[in-house]
Amino acid sequence: MNRREFMASMVAGAAMPVLAESGSADTGVKPPRFKPMEISGQEPRPDFWKVRPGEILELCERAKKCSRKEIIAHTPLGYPVYALFYGDFAGDKPPQTNWSAGASSTTWKNYMGNPPPAKQTFLLLTGIHGAEPECVAGAVNLIQELETGRDFRGKTHPELVDLIAKYRFIIVPCANMDGRAISPDHLRGAVWRDFRAASQGTWKDGSLVGWRGSKSWFPLPLDKVSYPGGYPNSEGYNIMHDATPGDIRTAEARGILKLAARWRVDAVLNGHSYEFAPSAIVPSAVDVPAKVERLNAISDRINVAIHAAGLMDGKPQVNRTPSGLMNLNNVLALASGALALTLECSVSFDRSIKSPGTIPTRTYTFDELMEPLFISLREYLADGLERPFLVRGTDHVYGD
Ligand SMILES: [Zn+2]
Repeated sequence: MNRREFMASMVAGAAMPVLAESGSADTGVKPPRFKPMEISGQEPRPDFWKVRPGEILELCERAKKCSRKEIIAHTPLGYPVYALFYGDFAGDKPPQTNWSAGASSTTWKNYMGNPPPAKQTFLLLTGIHGAEPECVAGAVNLIQELETGRDFRGKTHPELVDLIAKYRFIIVPCANMDGRAISPDHLRGAVWRDFRAASQGTWKDGSLVGWRGSKSWFPLPLDKVSYPGGYPNSEGYNIMHDATPGDIRTAEARGILKLAARWRVDAVLNGHSYEFAPSAIVPSAVDVPAKVERLNAISDRINVAIHAAGLMDGKPQVNRTPSGLMNLNNVLALASGALALTLECSVSFDRSIKSPGTIPTRTYTFDELMEPLFISLREYLADGLERPFLVRGTDHVYGD
């Protein structure tokens, strides 16, 4: 089949072998409406920091060790959004019911399959906000290690690779390719205003759109901005908040939710970055109480590990009250029952989230900027082996 047919078959989710693609990674991609942001005087990225769309596509297209790959969406600019599958997905037929119905049916196996997958299914989802490249860099290096035995630094993570092998593991290395296409390679050393401008953009009068300000709009009105930031996709939609059932606006969010539902994802790590020392975010309270409690415990575990690795000064963030905020993690929970947790890496400095006004005393190295992703995955995956992530249901509780 030619390239277009190959891509169409993947979008349709048809069973397919892993095929190496050839040709330009950017074929058919439209140029962005806004000029990519450059921060003057910024240090060059190291070679292993491969976070540009063309580099991500090249890696995904040449991946051969994965058991399956799909393009789960095309962005408004036309970039394919890849999902790479590691582990045994062969012969796994689509669920005969959705999670909502299946969770209430005579047996949870009507959704999970009979027999259900032998291993739990984990989704690593990074680059939802294109301006936040740290977890994308981590995911790209992890893919390189899974493909070749070493990451782009020549390093190995044997414990993590061993844990991944105990799961069915899916990686979406960059969900927001459009945002990535206009974002700087990194924000290390950037002053706060440049960080904020790169993320949520600037209005035409030069003022910042702002983090909360950006959420006043869905989509961001692109005719009113001088730069939209790499937070939203090229139509101004913040994919992380494309979370209204019945009114999902972006192909990216739709593709992610379908992916989770189709492959019965049990747990998700949603990788982001912010301007503080890295930490896993407190989960949303909007879920089944037992799942909220479990997610909070996993979040604590990750934060203790990040602290122990010397990447978080002060006390680790633990024992927090679940928040009332809602985002894509909530609808992922609805799509497949998954636990979904957000990690925030740091874009540069060790600012304390508890005291945001404090002067940072440390600039993380590029290795340290992506290290929290590896730590979080290790802790999250280890937790799921000590106790399954989900109790999917109890058979025959409900009579017909
Ligand atoms: Zn983010």
